[in-house]
Amino acid sequence: MKKNIVPKRILITGGAGFLGSHLCERLLEQGHEVLCVDNYFTGRRRNVAHLLDDPRFELMRHDVTFPLYVEVDEIYNLACPASPIHYQHDPVQTTKTSVHGAINMLGLAKRTGAKILQASTSEVYGDPEIHPQREEYWGNVNPIGPRACYDEGKRCAETLFFDYHRQHRLRIKVARIFNTYGPRMQPDDGRVVSNFILQALRGEPITLHGDGSQSRSFCYVDDLIDGLIRLMESGSDVTGPINLGNPVEFTVRELAEQVIEMTGSSSPLVNHPRPDDDPSQRRPDISRASDLLGWTPSVQLAHGLRRTIDYFSALIGEGASP
Ligand code: NAD
Ligand code: UDP
Ligand code: UDP
Repeated sequence: MKKNIVPKRILITGGAGFLGSHLCERLLEQGHEVLCVDNYFTGRRRNVAHLLDDPRFELMRHDVTFPLYVEVDEIYNLACPASPIHYQHDPVQTTKTSVHGAINMLGLAKRTGAKILQASTSEVYGDPEIHPQREEYWGNVNPIGPRACYDEGKRCAETLFFDYHRQHRLRIKVARIFNTYGPRMQPDDGRVVSNFILQALRGEPITLHGDGSQSRSFCYVDDLIDGLIRLMESGSDVTGPINLGNPVEFTVRELAEQVIEMTGSSSPLVNHPRPDDDPSQRRPDISRASDLLGWTPSVQLAHGLRRTIDYFSALIGEGASP
């Protein structure tokens, strides 16, 4: 346990997912009790299997669209499928998870007095007309397109957080997370970093959507988790929304070329059609996070990719289902 930390009871919804499992790990390391709640839609018990022996860790199968009565001091609300393949698989359930899930977790925070953090997303900016994206920007979202179940669900969750704050004085924190990558990304969820690494390692063609000129900025998971915890621990005047992401921007083609180089792969690049409503550019303005939380990401893409490539190589080596 770290010095000067008062142990808290912390609920993490979506705790068996990619980001959630890293957050569970980090908060346990800090000496807290962690209750991890997940319905395993996209998360895996395997992601938290190494934590099960810790007496301060508890794992509960539960769907956040149903009420949950537990006693906690803090809530990180991460439950929601995050990749387009998964959130478009059952779009009605995606909206329910964001909206009903937020209502239930806010109700829980209201009853217990817990502080509550929402994992929102850069998708609230839609296909942005402002670049880079600042928190003041209201976004450019298609409300009836294939991404709307996720984008509008997350936007409504933000609305609920701010209404519970104004109406019931809840202590809220809203993080707008930009593309994040690292070990324990789901191998089959179609996100660009995991797709390119797996394709390169297997010697399969690298699937470039469009000509690959669209841009993203990729944040390594350790940096992101640091930002989430700083936000939760910030003063009561800090509610967010706060962008958390890496401001270094790459085109998708540049990412593909870097992955090919680092894996020594001979995979060719092949062009696939761009998905509907695929944003053309995305980069966070993180001056708010830097000013209010003293946070800036420190892991460079090459370093983060190395750790992620090693993770997926090991997974392939184990014969697990990448
Ligand atoms: P993930 O899919 O790995 O994790 C989501 C977790 O939520 C999974 O474990 C899943 O089983 C669980 N879940 C889904 N529906 C649930 C429900 N109804 N009840 C209980 N559990 C449920 O995705 P992730 O990348 O770890 O994302 C975590 C959060 O961060 C999500 O809310 C996502 O929207 C947000 N986010 C992530 C990114 C990113 O780049 N990874 C970017 C922006 C926002
Ligand atoms: N809720 C929950 N756990 C709690 C308290 C509330 O899951 O510990 C759920 C409850 O089912 C309710 C929702 O949170 O539907 C919103 O609660 P709130 O108190 O805001 O609304 P109300 O109960 O008055 O409708
Ligand atoms: N992408 C791609 N090839 C893939 C998967 C994704 O070119 O195999 C593109 C995708 O069209 C998008 C970018 O990479 O422009 C990031 O996609 P991802 O699904 O990872 O995240 P998001 O679209 O949510 O930012």
